[in-house]
Amino acid sequence: MTSKIWHPFTQHGLGQDIPEVVRAEGATLYTNDGREIVDAISSWWVQTHGHCHPKIVSAIQQQSAQLDQIIFAGWTHEPAEELAKNLSDFLPDTLNHIFFSDSGSTAVEVALKMALGFWHNQGQQRHRILVMDHSYHGDTIGAMSIGARGVFNDAYASLLFDVGSIPFPESGAEQITFDALAVFCADQDDPPAALIVEPLILGAGGMKVYTPETLREMQRICREHDVLFIADEVMTGWGRTGTVFACEQAGITPDILCMAKGLTGGVIPLAITAASAPVYDAHFSKDRAKTFFHSSSFTANPIACAAANANLQIWRDEPVQQRIEHIIRRHQAFAGQIAEHQNVSGIRQCGTILAFEINDASGNYMSAIGPDLLKFFAERNILLRPLGNTVYIMPPYCISDAELTAVYRAIEDTIVHFA
Ligand SMILES: *Cc1c(COP(=O)(O)O)cnc(C)c1O
Repeated sequence: MTSKIWHPFTQHGLGQDIPEVVRAEGATLYTNDGREIVDAISSWWVQTHGHCHPKIVSAIQQQSAQLDQIIFAGWTHEPAEELAKNLSDFLPDTLNHIFFSDSGSTAVEVALKMALGFWHNQGQQRHRILVMDHSYHGDTIGAMSIGARGVFNDAYASLLFDVGSIPFPESGAEQITFDALAVFCADQDDPPAALIVEPLILGAGGMKVYTPETLREMQRICREHDVLFIADEVMTGWGRTGTVFACEQAGITPDILCMAKGLTGGVIPLAITAASAPVYDAHFSKDRAKTFFHSSSFTANPIACAAANANLQIWRDEPVQQRIEHIIRRHQAFAGQIAEHQNVSGIRQCGTILAFEINDASGNYMSAIGPDLLKFFAERNILLRPLGNTVYIMPPYCISDAELTAVYRAIEDTIVHFA
């Protein structure tokens, strides 16, 4: 089939098959050629309660017939007000200023602009952003600048701004990370504006995990030096790591928190950057020059806000936490099952996410294995999308026992097949 569509992260020159999905329900995708596929990566980490959840469908239907879109600069509407109000049940009390945007990348860009505005509006020269090696924060220019550099952004390197990078806190070597952070923070000549991290698990960087204690210590160091602490919870938010937000496990409150993917249950685009009172207050003034200059056409779209409100309602009404606990226990059992396999290394789990590397027979990594793995899973009607030779499962919380078993079986097959 020839199509005019240019797909994201897709090398069309490889001539790979692009399947067409016509319908979805729960954790199942239905294709136009009659296949049923288990969505084991939540349609790229966004779906939480499963596809076409009736409460979200109905919220979208009702809202779209009532108020579909309205300018948000100087205007407001009930779905946004309700969402901002109800989010306080899920967020720490101090994160009570809610700024809307449309994607994880823009939520991150907004966070960076808030951080720089915070210092600028107080007459302080702080520009440097601190980041963690292997991080991913999105694909817009600013988000790329603060993310890992490599083949994905080589062509645009000249547009990316400089950052201060701290090493990823490898298990047992966390002190190296803390020391590097402390050195940056104490730099009087170029004091940093903020540190941004993906809390507990680095997603696109390879599902690399670190401990809540490490997260807490990084925040403590930032506090000590008045460096703003930004948590990018775009992927980790809404239950992924076992708690609604990953920061909860460290008992910390960031100054700025970004959320997107699961905010609407992963149904339609909406993002929020939540800020603390000091960040908001630095922009609050009679001086128009201190306005927070950011908007997009669809800021706080009412239909998207209605979907997010339905998501919050589902968290309140349904046993979401129990579903998450169940996946966590099943992942643990499966991890134990494959742990001894000589072809498997680096098994790790963070809440509903289970990840490991597939080795080749000689024990070397072979990152070129990625496309073969993808094909192998596709043939078994499982949607998994390994990052190189890193295989991970990130299912919607509604996934059934049978579906999860099918995913585990396909993974066991791969481990044997690629041995
Ligand atoms: C996906 C992701 C983003 C970007 O979100 P988009 O909605 O794809 O722009 C940012 N940060 C993290 C941690 C992510 O996983």
